[in-house]
Amino acid sequence: MQPIISVRHLNHYYGQGSLKKQILFDINLDINRGEIIILTGPSGSGKTTLLTLMGGLRSIQEGNLSILEQELLHATKEQMTLARRSIGFIFQAHNLLNFLTAYQNVEMALEIQDITAAEADTRIRAVLGAVGLEHRMDYYPSGLSGGQKQRVAIARALVSQPKIILADEPTAALDKKSGRDVVEIMENLAREQGCTILLVTHDNRILDLADRIIYMEDGYLVNSSNIATLVQ
Ligand code: ADP
Ligand code: MG
Repeated sequence: MQPIISVRHLNHYYGQGSLKKQILFDINLDINRGEIIILTGPSGSGKTTLLTLMGGLRSIQEGNLSILEQELLHATKEQMTLARRSIGFIFQAHNLLNFLTAYQNVEMALEIQDITAAEADTRIRAVLGAVGLEHRMDYYPSGLSGGQKQRVAIARALVSQPKIILADEPTAALDKKSGRDVVEIMENLAREQGCTILLVTHDNRILDLADRIIYMEDGYLVNSSNIATLVQ
């Protein structure tokens, strides 16, 4: 089967002219359907850059990157938008809208979907229940703890049943217990839906939750078969 994400000889640069600086170097990576992958490595090594390229949030400059069989090199704006719609994004800062309740924040993610109001309501209640927030649906973010807000963000990312979840340090602002809870909830929901997850973290307390760990350093992906020794 074709990998759901495939990266070939990907380079990326920031800046122009004499300030141009290479950030990613010859990245090659295949991610299979349903895999749960953790991408780790020091701060500044290029993890967020790679994630935003995979998510169609930034244009590809050199090399190839295909996601759900759509090549993103030279993709049109419409093709980039379609690629983004098949992805659920979760960021370090939960990015909830403060003037909307937990329910309404999740509801927003369904607005572009072609489903009835009744079906939307069923799905929103089910996903908020699955992250353990059935009693917090009408709370505003200001009334929720950090872990609860991040669980709303997970519910929002998963309610449209995306094929891929891209998560950038989703546990960074959480204590150990809530960080693990949040990732376990995400993982269980994703497995139920057959969703693929790429999760960036340097939280080594959750590495064991991955099917595969890949490691990035100074813009290079380090051969993942060498990781076992790094992780212990
Ligand atoms: P990580 O997520 O692993 O911390 P990033 O992808 O955020 O790494 O950053 C990789 C490198 O690119 C860092 O040196 C960072 O300073 C630089 N960088 C990130 N974003 C930009 C940007 N928008 N413009 C210029 N340099 C950037
Ligand atoms: Mg980052």
